[in-house]
Amino acid sequence: MSGASRALFVHAHPDDESLWTGGTIASLARGGAEVSLVTCTWVRGTTRHGELVDAARELELARDPIMLGYADSFVPDSAPGASSFILAPFDEQVAALVAHIRVLKPQVLVTYDAFGMYGHPDHIHANRLTAAAADAAAVGAYHSDLGDPWQVSSLYFVTIPESIVTAIKPHLATASHLPYTGTPDAQVDLWVDVGACVGCKIRAITSHRTEIARSASMQDFGALPPGPQRLFLRSEAYQRRDLVPGGVDLI
Ligand SMILES: [Zn+2]
Repeated sequence: MSGASRALFVHAHPDDESLWTGGTIASLARGGAEVSLVTCTWVRGTTRHGELVDAARELELARDPIMLGYADSFVPDSAPGASSFILAPFDEQVAALVAHIRVLKPQVLVTYDAFGMYGHPDHIHANRLTAAAADAAAVGAYHSDLGDPWQVSSLYFVTIPESIVTAIKPHLATASHLPYTGTPDAQVDLWVDVGACVGCKIRAITSHRTEIARSASMQDFGALPPGPQRLFLRSEAYQRRDLVPGGVDLI
């Protein structure tokens, strides 16, 4: 194995893990890595949680998704009675994620870029939370009750390259997922060709049955012509930030 042997993905909503990083997760898992997922919103007992568990099985995750239990900013019913993900106390959230990092000891953390890929406030918040928790997890004095300090080696931020946006945007009816031009290709550090895992990536995406039925963007992606759809599904792109000299390759 040349890449990470333990990786933790932090996503805001059920479906993002499959749509944006599903091929990377499946490739890592097939290569023998221990891959875990934290999903920040939605709770057990909801339909979306059940679909997420199905997707996680398709991607061969090491364990069921860890639910932080916050509400989707736009869907209060995703976690009845719980705080909205972007409004809950930030240090409470950092501590919750630090506890998981110190147990799972991932070499790499994966989340969205600082613009949340396309500006979604929950995605932007997940980026900030993940970066803060990576730093805090390594500091022994920070919540020593949450376990021994753990130093994550590298952060990877999934992003949508400009060339992909350019290729698919003309074919999208609503373009609601892509309101901007994408990250300049020169600022992308890692392109993962997930062609070998695209079958299970598609099965994972389609596990999110109610979201496909509800979301115009998901239907748009599903209706892309074969060429642009292949391009969209076969590559996953990341920016990399090493937290220790040399870092650790994702894959
Ligand atoms: Zn999302």
